Amino acid sequence: MLILRCPNCGIDADETELAPGGEAHLRRVGPEASDDAFEGYLFHRENPRGVHFERWRHAAGCGKWFHAARCTQTLEVFGTYSAQVTDPPQDIRDAITARRPGWRWRDIE
Ligand SMILES: [Zn+2]
Repeated sequence: MLILRCPNCGIDADETELAPGGEAHLRRVGPEASDDAFEGYLFHRENPRGVHFERWRHAAGCGKWFHAARCTQTLEVFGTYSAQVTDPPQDIRDAITARRPGWRWRDIE
């Protein structure tokens, strides 16, 4: 069972209390973007076997959104953090690197 700590209220919530919101850190495109870029923003999502960043809502709790970094293969949770950031915080990236040496995500080192 997936258990995530809501960073908004501090409660450890199991998956029955949470609502998934898909991939985190999507980059919006502007009106000048090409059709291909806009299609990518609307429809293309990462679906990795391994480290992934996701949006979750504490639906049966405080109702607020947050982000989680976890492994889709093992359900190992690396951490949760505010949904108000555009990139994963450094402490989350450090936690992932400590457990998955050599791991990289997009252009983040
Ligand atoms: Zn909460």
